[in-house]
Amino acid sequence: MIYLDNNATTEIAEEVFEAMKPYLTNRFGNPSAVYDFAREAREIVDVSRQRLADLVGAENSTEIVFTSCGTESDNWAILGALGANPEKRHIITTKVEHSAISNLCKKLEQDGVEVTTLGVDENGSLDLDELRGALRPETAVVSVMMANNETGIIFPVKEIAEIVHSDSDAVFHVDGVNAVGKIPVNVREAGIDLFSISGHKFHAPKGIGALYIRRGVKLAPMLIGGSQESGRRAGTEAVHQIAAIGKAAELAKSPGTDIRRLRDKLEDFILRNIPNARLNGTAERSVRLPNTSSISFENINGEMILARLNELGICVSTGSACNSESRHSSSVLQAMNVPFTTAMGAVRFSLGRYNTEAEIDFVIEHLPKIIEELRQQGI
Ligand code: PLP
Repeated sequence: MIYLDNNATTEIAEEVFEAMKPYLTNRFGNPSAVYDFAREAREIVDVSRQRLADLVGAENSTEIVFTSCGTESDNWAILGALGANPEKRHIITTKVEHSAISNLCKKLEQDGVEVTTLGVDENGSLDLDELRGALRPETAVVSVMMANNETGIIFPVKEIAEIVHSDSDAVFHVDGVNAVGKIPVNVREAGIDLFSISGHKFHAPKGIGALYIRRGVKLAPMLIGGSQESGRRAGTEAVHQIAAIGKAAELAKSPGTDIRRLRDKLEDFILRNIPNARLNGTAERSVRLPNTSSISFENINGEMILARLNELGICVSTGSACNSESRHSSSVLQAMNVPFTTAMGAVRFSLGRYNTEAEIDFVIEHLPKIIEELRQQGI
């Protein structure tokens, strides 16, 4: 199996699996308990919080709150900002956000919250003047992603933060789910107020995430109950999952395979050798994730390519994993004005820490034949 779908989810690292095991077996104590036996559970929660704080450049580990996934972190950022500022009923977001933000905003719109959705150009870039024009005194939160899960395009979050903070007192939320572990993140330097993290995107298991909440930012609690997570997100801590995300955060700081070189090799090969293949989004690599290539094979159905690659054990995606069952072309590609026939032929290759050169060579060997055959069949 050759796994090139790391923006959808990643393999649990061996080190991560080992780190979580004791908390699934003998160290099962409740971190809130006061006897000695529970101390190890409490300690690993603190250690993991610090590791995550270090990974994203938080000033203090108390700014990290554990959640169950990226979706929860995203939902909390928006709902928490609205909840803490009930007089403000306006949100600014973009047309290329993950459904964890876009579908929530649609729902909030039905509930009477005003939502401004910023567009992108064909390169996938935002118009920052449009953002300036959209900010209002009643804007509660501005939410943009750091890196797009489908195209890998990185938004200039530091510049966006400067605009948000100089022209308004809105809270600035960044969905960092597909950026963490792939590019360096420093929430403090970037001026980010809230930052969403999801463990399964960087070699921790599914079911654990976090929200960075800059000290001083007002946010309504996510779950109300006990005093866990300083009362901001109640519920007994998932200690094994927290141990896992902490280990994954530590691992993310150490260099793995040269993903960028392998991605460049694959992308260059396809664009140079396969007729009518085009990159979705800017060709400028400095503003794209080093692991992602979204490439459209004109007039072929991406799902057919996916199926043929699947027969060879190669896993790719035709867009976001969350909308792979939808028959519509991806909303991200639509927002970038990619024509329908091009968008339907989009394949996302997203590499990860454990890919090898031999795997990329295998894809390079087989993909041209697959595309040629599908073109001959007129699919
Ligand atoms: N935000 C982005 C950019 C994502 O790519 C994803 C997952 O694909 C999410 C949020 C949701 O994260 P989770 O799967 O942990 O709920």
